[in-house]
Amino acid sequence: MINKICIVGIGLIGGSLARALRVLGYAHEIVGYGRSVGNLQQAVELGVIDRAEVSLTDAVRHVDMVVLAVPVGCMVEIFGEIGPALTDQTVVTDVGSVKGSVIEAARHALGKRFANFVPGHPLAGTEQSGLTASQADLFQGRRVILSPEPETDATATASVRAMWEAVGAEVATLSAVDHDRILAVSSHLPHMLAYCLVDMVVRHDDHRAILECAAGGFRDITRIAGSDPVMWRDICLANRDALLVALRQYHDDLGALTAAIEKGDGKWLCETFTRAKHTRAALNKKYDVQA
Ligand code: NAP
Repeated sequence: MINKICIVGIGLIGGSLARALRVLGYAHEIVGYGRSVGNLQQAVELGVIDRAEVSLTDAVRHVDMVVLAVPVGCMVEIFGEIGPALTDQTVVTDVGSVKGSVIEAARHALGKRFANFVPGHPLAGTEQSGLTASQADLFQGRRVILSPEPETDATATASVRAMWEAVGAEVATLSAVDHDRILAVSSHLPHMLAYCLVDMVVRHDDHRAILECAAGGFRDITRIAGSDPVMWRDICLANRDALLVALRQYHDDLGALTAAIEKGDGKWLCETFTRAKHTRAALNKKYDVQA
């Protein structure tokens, strides 16, 4: 249980966390902060948060935990603003999809209170965004990665872990470097491919005819191109190095595929597709494929 929690950014992830905590009665008061008064009013009317604040420093003052659920590109500014209003006991965490850049921003802005910052990332979400897309059960059965640094206070980490476990998530820890390298391949690269494919089609002379014929395959692989462009711009820039490694590897592999097709190398194609098919089937069995 937490007495007061402040969620900064009442969108898909922040709104879903608020809803899940409300269902459990996990916090005595949930304070929401965001830029749009209309969004905050709606969150109060829907019972997602108890109180809306339009001043960030007022929102975080006297709370036990602050959860940053905003795009990673605006976290630097937010850490800078909240730093002076935090107490030595306030635990701060985030849900950002990139960890290295967020940790650096927090270290720079929070000073000695950096020890109370627990970097986090729930591996849950959809291509939808905003409060209206939020769901109380979004984190049920999903993994949340925490990336505590050597200075991170163990009690702060334990309270963030307890909150995620309460809303049904399975918590794992990974270093920020490993997190950013792995997520570059498992999440960031697929989003780049989806955006790139849809954009390639829309610039094609025959794009109307192509889209009219877009059936299951095109729709399945491009669903995530419906994700928020600002959020993904920020993720690309924040995880630039790891994402570039993944993109270059994929580029090389597309080159090998192109060469095999040019040469008519059916053996290479069949071996590659079979290996991928088996891996995908194993993923279906082991994990929730919607993750
Ligand atoms: P979202 O639905 O667009 O919500 C973002 C919220 O942040 C909005 O309520 C927005 O409210 C607020 N916001 C945006 N810019 C702001 C700024 N400059 N200052 C203050 N508030 C701002 O996005 P989301 O999907 O919840 O993503 C939030 C975070 O979760 C991101 O860091 C993302 O990387 C991470 N994440 C997303 C997913 C996913 O699948 N979507 C999964 C895991 C983690 P106002 O416009 O009213 O200010």
